[in-house]
Amino acid sequence: MKIQLGCIADDFTGATDLANNLVRSGMRVVQTIGVPNAPLAAEVDAVVVALKSRTIPAAEAIAQSLDALKWLQAQGAQQIYFKYCSTFDSTPEGNIGPVTEALMDALGTDFTIATPAFPDNGRTVFKGYLFAGNVLLNESGMQNHPLTPMTDANLVRVMQAQTKRKVGLINYKTVAQGEGAIRERIAALRADGVGVAVVDATSNDDLHLLGPALKGMPLVTAGSGVAIGLPANFGLKPSLQASQLPAASGLQAVVSGSCSVATNAQVAHFKASGRPARAIDPASLMHGQSDAVVQQVLAWAAPLLKDGPVLVYSTAEPEAVKAVQAQLGVAEAGALVEHALAAVARGLVGLGVKQLVVAGGETSGACVQALGIAQLQIGPQIDPGVPWCHAPSENGGVHITLKSGNFGTEDFFSKAFGVLR
Ligand code: ADP
Repeated sequence: MKIQLGCIADDFTGATDLANNLVRSGMRVVQTIGVPNAPLAAEVDAVVVALKSRTIPAAEAIAQSLDALKWLQAQGAQQIYFKYCSTFDSTPEGNIGPVTEALMDALGTDFTIATPAFPDNGRTVFKGYLFAGNVLLNESGMQNHPLTPMTDANLVRVMQAQTKRKVGLINYKTVAQGEGAIRERIAALRADGVGVAVVDATSNDDLHLLGPALKGMPLVTAGSGVAIGLPANFGLKPSLQASQLPAASGLQAVVSGSCSVATNAQVAHFKASGRPARAIDPASLMHGQSDAVVQQVLAWAAPLLKDGPVLVYSTAEPEAVKAVQAQLGVAEAGALVEHALAAVARGLVGLGVKQLVVAGGETSGACVQALGIAQLQIGPQIDPGVPWCHAPSENGGVHITLKSGNFGTEDFFSKAFGVLR
């Protein structure tokens, strides 16, 4: 069982985003949480290894990325895709430049591209400058990011500051002329000693023109956008089979720890539809009461599950969240709630739930960990950026979807189960 494309993503939701784009373009994809220590659980065309390496020290990011590379090569990967954020989140210390360089060295290649372009999400690159929506990156709010402030939109300069290799540009005029012109430009840049080329792309058409020119390139570095042009290089085109998961069975439940605006509306919508919902009050979890609360919630859910999905949530409006945080501390409140919801998720699966919706990025991380999930096969998209996944296990596995904060329409919690049917 050999894979074709091996991907290394520098964070978890970014990995899902990439996996989702690959599936929609015709690849069967498994996303792994970290570098696996087990063989692949399903036969697929691509694997996305999700790391948490975006803002850790560069040396650690390099070590983790090289570990992932080794594992992907052992699975037969013919091309490596280093995925970073579509806003190019990094600092002069890295980690995009140092990881790119380390991967190039390990692969013995002297050339790669770098482009965070993701037109579907409003990220475009023109003359080497990155736009987020209608404004330059450094006017988009990203200049104030707490960890990776982006104060320059010129990606050639930004990349040059974090790599020893010479950085060049393949501009929109070349991209518009397609594969032949792009390959000629690459040859010219290479002859000039350029090791990394930023590539312009302002539309999906540009990404489809770029795709064929990347065939055979050992390493591609990009946001998730470039992915839409790659499966064709492996003879794959969009198909329903790519997103096919094992048939869904078992009971249904939603666990929500996200307090984002969209999630609050989704919780309200689910309750208004008459489905059973149970709130967890963070204050009730204090003084070692968490286990007792979890048991009460599971006892409440047990007789209801046979009649359809139930919702367990800590989702609250901003004022309520602030009040709890003032009482418990921000980190402590978050950790208490995450721990309890993860225990609820595990308990629900124990009660026979095999279709689980989880809302919240951090909440998802906690639930996936509590469920011991190490690999996720990526299935059909419920809403942009949010696919159903299947986590195999001895007892047939569980279908799970991990919805980060503001994703999904108001009826997401009920709609999701319809997509699986
Ligand atoms: P999102 O994707 O919307 O950001 P996350 O799950 O990543 O959601 O983050 C929500 C955080 O808020 C988690 O740490 C969660 O435990 C915490 N949390 C959830 N409900 C409450 C609440 N009612 N009060 C305080 N904190 C909460």
